[in-house]
Amino acid sequence: MTEAIKRAAIDIGFDAVAIARAEPLDQEMEHYRQWLESGYHGTMGYMERNLDSRYDVGNIVEGARSVVVVAKNYFTPHKHDSASSGKIARYAWGDDYHDVLPPMLDALCVEIAEHAPGSVSRRYTDTGPVLEKQWAVRSGLGWQGKNGNILRRDIGSWFFIGVVITTADLRPDEPMDDYCGTCTACLDACPTKAIVQPLVVDATKCISYWTIETKADVDIPLPIAENLDGWLFGCDACQDVCPWNRFETPTSEVRFQPRLGELALDPTSVLTLQPDLFSERFRRSPLKRPKLGGLQRNARALISGD
Ligand code: SF4
Ligand code: SF4
Repeated sequence: MTEAIKRAAIDIGFDAVAIARAEPLDQEMEHYRQWLESGYHGTMGYMERNLDSRYDVGNIVEGARSVVVVAKNYFTPHKHDSASSGKIARYAWGDDYHDVLPPMLDALCVEIAEHAPGSVSRRYTDTGPVLEKQWAVRSGLGWQGKNGNILRRDIGSWFFIGVVITTADLRPDEPMDDYCGTCTACLDACPTKAIVQPLVVDATKCISYWTIETKADVDIPLPIAENLDGWLFGCDACQDVCPWNRFETPTSEVRFQPRLGELALDPTSVLTLQPDLFSERFRRSPLKRPKLGGLQRNARALISGD
């Protein structure tokens, strides 16, 4: 049954799949609480909520026995010009994974129900109180790199994670070894020194947090604005330098190809974008998340910090 479900996940289009027992995340939760207590989550108050569900997926799906964790590669063979301003993080070049992954995860839930009749499953992809990275580590989908991202030797860290919590009793996998070794490339490359120690990212120093997660009326602090390094939306600096990303395995998903071939937006032209054009142009794009106001705030910070 486990093998059939894993084969189905690959047939649906996922690039990797691994399974963990649905046990409470004791040690992981301790680290997560410490991270919250340090205030590293900034204004992302939702991360403080539903801690019981984050700790134990049995509080989400009663009788949960297994957590199926999948990876969807989004790497496309394009690169930023290092001197360019207005850079968009790679994950946001194409369509929003919040639109692409759920139907695939739904198809996986159907497969699980077929192979484990009577089972109940729920899927998540950054859409609820599920510690997806911790489950990725538990299941052996990958290891957590010093930059906090989950890594695999075949597709590096350029992938989205999906999770299915299920009452189906599946055979778990072994955790994956950690292949970071003595490398510190990501810590050294971070323009704002947001990786405060291996595996610990202080979001309040991270360019991705400031350019994606904060509200439009919140100004980007000067020490961050002065070190945006050309990033308008998100930041890939700690992934671009990772040696495990050198293999550059391309995705099979055409929807992750850069829309209009754009890897960056001229910050000056962002400032003159009209709301109706913004809505039309970025429909089903991750760039709609900070809304036009947020994107323009980022553009202003980029221009004034240049
Ligand atoms: S995303 Fe950018 S700012 Fe954030 S930790 Fe990585 S390199 Fe640093
Ligand atoms: S850059 Fe080096 S230390 Fe950082 S995640 Fe990659 S392998 Fe690990």
